[in-house]
Amino acid sequence: MIGHAGNPGKALAPGAVIGLLGGGQLARMLAIAAARLGYRTSVYDPDPSAPAAQLCSSHRRAAYDDTEQLQAFAAGCDVVTYEFENVPVVTARTIAATRPVFPPPSALEASQDRLAEKDFISGLGIATAPYYDIASAADLTSALTNCAGTGILKTRRMGYDGKGQLRLTSADDPARAWAEIGHVPAILEGLVDFRCEISVIGARSQTGEFRAFEPARNEHRNGILHTSHVPSGLSSDIIQQAIEMARAIMDALDYVGVLGVEFFVSTDGKLLVNEIAPRVHNSGHWTEAACTISQFEQHIRAIAGLPLGDPVHHSNCRMENLIGDEVARVPQLLAEADCLVHLYGKTETRSGRKMGHVTWLLGQK
Ligand code: ATP
Ligand code: MG
Repeated sequence: MIGHAGNPGKALAPGAVIGLLGGGQLARMLAIAAARLGYRTSVYDPDPSAPAAQLCSSHRRAAYDDTEQLQAFAAGCDVVTYEFENVPVVTARTIAATRPVFPPPSALEASQDRLAEKDFISGLGIATAPYYDIASAADLTSALTNCAGTGILKTRRMGYDGKGQLRLTSADDPARAWAEIGHVPAILEGLVDFRCEISVIGARSQTGEFRAFEPARNEHRNGILHTSHVPSGLSSDIIQQAIEMARAIMDALDYVGVLGVEFFVSTDGKLLVNEIAPRVHNSGHWTEAACTISQFEQHIRAIAGLPLGDPVHHSNCRMENLIGDEVARVPQLLAEADCLVHLYGKTETRSGRKMGHVTWLLGQK
């Protein structure tokens, strides 16, 4: 083993193997960044068609609860990271018994349960949307009253891209809504009347060094990120506050790697954290086109014990996801100037599926 948590500052040597738990597009882009720094990657994903597997030196197709497979995977890696926050905590801890795992498995714990996540964030003195623990239809009835009759019911676990969520008003039947999300533990969030949404993509090294990219302003459609704009158009004061909140969150987690923090900017100019993602983040994809060092390289640098890169962006830009049939726009997009297309190698187009993204450079900042 070349570098590990107990030996910060010792960088992974070229040729070292970085393990990726989860083989979706985020792992695929991490594999590209790792390769550019001379590392090999090994991916763990039960799906035979995992997009990252096309680019990694090896692909272990096994279940996330298969201890023997996890141990064998760990034995072949120098450091292990993950690309999605629903990796079971025990999976990460099984690997951490023999190999360094970054970000620390405790960051998974803090982010994969919406209730624990909100308690953690508010415990740091950082504002969130009002939220209520829901374990029954009766809880939902009283929480809706507290939220002035409108809110979003979200399952505590396993939600992403707006899945496992229901928008409710007091006209909805709580028993029916509770049944619709499957009677699983949930939270009700008060609806935030926001001016816009932004995200901070922060990075923290093994020695506690912190860097953040310029926050992007994000637009969602049907609960899925659609567009990110850089710059956000917000004042430098709000931007600085958001970056400092991201730093406080990462310090509290003794974090190593890249973390995405999603914020609402309320109509009266206050920042509320929506959620955190302990991984590279869709709203940071623009960094591959508009910065010298992308969020993917920044993450690899952090977990490999290399110095973090300068996160400054050289250009303003707009990133759009190519969701489902939107991928058919690619031939025209390729003909445009200052336009970088990135496809994820997914052969089957499905509605709501992220197929790729495109970033337009909009001139020097
Ligand atoms: P993703 O994986 O894309 O981040 P998710 O399933 O984790 O999505 P959230 O981030 O909780 O879902 O919500 C998706 C979007 O729905 C938010 O970015 C925002 O646009 C809207 N939304 C969520 N919660 C609220 C709220 N309390 N008030 C207003 N809008 C909200
Ligand atoms: Mg979100």
